[in-house]
Amino acid sequence: MHEMTHGVALPKTPREFGFFINGEWRRGRELFERNSPSHDVPVTRTSRCTPDDVNDAVAAARQAFEDRRWAGLPGGARAAVLLRAAEGIRQRREEIATWEVLENGKPISQARGEIDHCIACFETAAGAARLLHGESFNNLGDGLFGMVLREPVGVVGLITPWNFPFLILCERVPFILASGCTLVVKPAEVTSATTLILADILADAGLPAGVYNVVTGTGRSIGQTLTEHPDVDMLSFTGSTAVGRSCVHASADSNLKKLGLELGGKNPIIVFADANLEDAADGAAFGISFNTGQCCVSSSRLIVERSVADRFERILAEKMKKIRVGDPFDPQTQVGAITTAGQNETILKYIAAGKSEGAKVLVGGEALQCGHGRYIEPTLFSGVTPSMTIAREEIFGPVLSSFHFDTLEEAIAIANDTVYGLAASVWSKNIDQALSVTRRVRAGRFWVNTIMAGGPETPTGGFKQSGWGRETGLLGVEEYTQAKSVHIEIGDRSHWIAS
Ligand code: NDP
Repeated sequence: MHEMTHGVALPKTPREFGFFINGEWRRGRELFERNSPSHDVPVTRTSRCTPDDVNDAVAAARQAFEDRRWAGLPGGARAAVLLRAAEGIRQRREEIATWEVLENGKPISQARGEIDHCIACFETAAGAARLLHGESFNNLGDGLFGMVLREPVGVVGLITPWNFPFLILCERVPFILASGCTLVVKPAEVTSATTLILADILADAGLPAGVYNVVTGTGRSIGQTLTEHPDVDMLSFTGSTAVGRSCVHASADSNLKKLGLELGGKNPIIVFADANLEDAADGAAFGISFNTGQCCVSSSRLIVERSVADRFERILAEKMKKIRVGDPFDPQTQVGAITTAGQNETILKYIAAGKSEGAKVLVGGEALQCGHGRYIEPTLFSGVTPSMTIAREEIFGPVLSSFHFDTLEEAIAIANDTVYGLAASVWSKNIDQALSVTRRVRAGRFWVNTIMAGGPETPTGGFKQSGWGRETGLLGVEEYTQAKSVHIEIGDRSHWIAS
């Protein structure tokens, strides 16, 4: 360990991680070195796997699925493993939080909160593993009885992004495991560490070898091999809409594997004149700056009633100025570093496009100098029109665009004027108004007078081009099952062909 930052020693040499197949650690010939986005020192080294490694991992997952070492256990036995894993995560909370900060750049306080959510995901999925059941049909007449069995889909390929490396992983893995499936995970290369740490935790919790396998490397090589693999039954992908689309093509061109997709968002936050404006401004400031805006459900389009728009924007701008941006190991920091150099450049390009297309910067709008990291000021644009680039495209940064409306119909129309439909939020004291908006805005997750609320009990997922399928909750387990209808003849048989 060498340089200290806020009482934390940065690694003196990068920690090396192997990759994990069939319960064993392997090491690649080629290694990738990750620098901390906040401190610019190398922190981890991970293997660049080869397509052959992916084949090995899929074969291990296939064997573990077919011999029923996991799917064949009672739900209660699967639940016990998931609960032990929850405890394992709890015990290693600080270690996991530290690697999340070092690789991703998110504030340590936020990382800890996310890990608590991950523990809850394992606990929720454990309950679901016990309760997973099908249906029975006792109304088919005296001669027939019907059942619908839920069976695991089989081998799942899981591709995760860099914005919430551990959280998105844990919103998928325990639910996949609860269903009885086996899996091969490919994390984003820049944030692989905590996916690999989970392999240790699951093994210690008693998960049989071959059920959870991890391959590391780039999306273009290792991710694509997984999407095209003919022996993967289902692919769960979280990331950009462009790569999501390529997963659909890969599925069509290989084995028509089932797909779960959680993609981009351009999420509205609608504020009516009768809302508590202080609360709504708090929600808007949090919704756009949480995880540096690198968040698929970030509320990036503010739609505010014209009669209060100027006042609301002033309150919001004041709040956004006070957001503490900086070293993520500082416990006071609320917004950390931009995770990759590429994303930093993308966000700055969008800010430049907003300025050049005529939107007005009310607060922020610049990169921030702070130590050796990459930071961007939380930014609020006013006077945004629907055709502007910043109004239409997912920026994936702390950049909020403000629109004004006069009527409820207009608010709903602006909110729905996007190809995406991941999340939305509405602020009003009038319950009729809030519920009308909730019913008519097309989004998979909705918040009324709050934002980003909710736990793993309820499902997440998108409408329109934000994705297919649902994760978390009971639906999140069912997603990884398929239904089998069974009919049983009872008593006297009626013969089709006379004897
Ligand atoms: P990607 O969609 O490229 O990355 C997401 C995951 O997919 C990563 O694990 C990546 O691996 C992998 N991947 C990349 N290319 C392929 C491929 N051809 N086949 C299979 N897997 C692949 O997102 P980016 O990191 O490029 O970010 C670009 C934009 O995507 C962001 O600006 C944001 O708008 C959006 N995004 C949305 C997310 C969400 O949660 N909805 C999450 C992340 C990004 P690797 O990174 O190792 O190459």
